[in-house]
Amino acid sequence: MSAKHKLPSPASLVRPLIRKLHGYVPGEQPKVRGMIKLNTNEHAAPPSPRVLRAIQKATDDRLRLYPDPTAQPLREALADFHDCKPANIIVGNGSDELLALATRCFVEPKQSDDNSNRQVAGQTIQYFTPSYSLYPILANIHGARINEVKLPRDFSLPDNDALKASNWNFKAALTYVTTPNAPSGRGYRTRDLAKLCEAQKGVLILDEAYVDFACENALRLAKRYPHVLISRTFSKAYSLCFQRVGYFIGHPTLIAALDRIRDSYNTNGLGQAAALTTLSDLGYYQKQFSRILELRSKTTVELAALGFDIIPSQTNFIFAKPSCITAAEWFEKLRERKILTRWFDKPGIRDRLRITIGTEKEMARFLSATGAILRGTR
Ligand SMILES: *Cc1c(COP(=O)(O)O)cnc(C)c1O
Repeated sequence: MSAKHKLPSPASLVRPLIRKLHGYVPGEQPKVRGMIKLNTNEHAAPPSPRVLRAIQKATDDRLRLYPDPTAQPLREALADFHDCKPANIIVGNGSDELLALATRCFVEPKQSDDNSNRQVAGQTIQYFTPSYSLYPILANIHGARINEVKLPRDFSLPDNDALKASNWNFKAALTYVTTPNAPSGRGYRTRDLAKLCEAQKGVLILDEAYVDFACENALRLAKRYPHVLISRTFSKAYSLCFQRVGYFIGHPTLIAALDRIRDSYNTNGLGQAAALTTLSDLGYYQKQFSRILELRSKTTVELAALGFDIIPSQTNFIFAKPSCITAAEWFEKLRERKILTRWFDKPGIRDRLRITIGTEKEMARFLSATGAILRGTR
């Protein structure tokens, strides 16, 4: 072999699509202590004492064993909770994993072969903007066609006539709808979502990450329609972001298809234990939900009194527009005061901040900091 045998450049080994890809940008997880975190919609309260004990109790010799590959006890408890069968449920490493699996399961990607550049167009992944910023990333990774449909200025759900008049595709292979919507916080009526389900031909995922803070949920649509999946997570409402447990509910055929392509041990054992105990201690969480809703309306009222425009929220965050400063300035000045919020530099939403509802003390700090920032600008 010639000594000059040329090695490939590493970049040439990576698929062109991946070379160009921008990954998901998560909210900042600060390294310094003392920051008030109102930027990633984590729950302000810890998991229940029973859940913490269950995690500790499971931390023993069993760590050397693989966890239950089908999360059977957890799926049975979830089936009980949602009045369906375990076959209607798949559990994942956070709902993010399942949202990604869905792209691989239901959507043909763009195709090309080794020898020519001839490409066959892929099927469509569709979602509203703004909504969960992970969807475009998943669609790009998969090499799907993307259809983004703009929500109206008030972020309400367009009816089918409005969708027909827009670039909405009723035949998209996969559609994600964040309900309640993020980052706006706007809640959607189940009867309105039902009309969309009726008209939509492809798979429709109703991403209910924040539904425990809302007036209603769309679970019955996943039971009624074979092409509708509900996505839920233990992260936000159940204080278990760290453990990564989410799940889908839907028709057994779709669930079984997703099940075939997941990793065998996709849901870690401590996560399964934590989620299972959570379901036996729901009273604790109900109290937390009422506390958050109370604090949400108090914060909304106080910000409105300071001249902010706030979308009525059905989540554990609010989406607020300042009037005498820009959202970017508000964000920066809060940050200088050690309060983290989320600002999206994107069309249609860069005039607002998304603020997670924290503890009572954190929200008091946030409001007084905001008051001081406004006084400083006058
Ligand atoms: C946080 C979030 C998720 C992801 O939750 P995990 O279960 O932690 O992966 C999914 N969808 C939306 C809209 C979210 O905000």
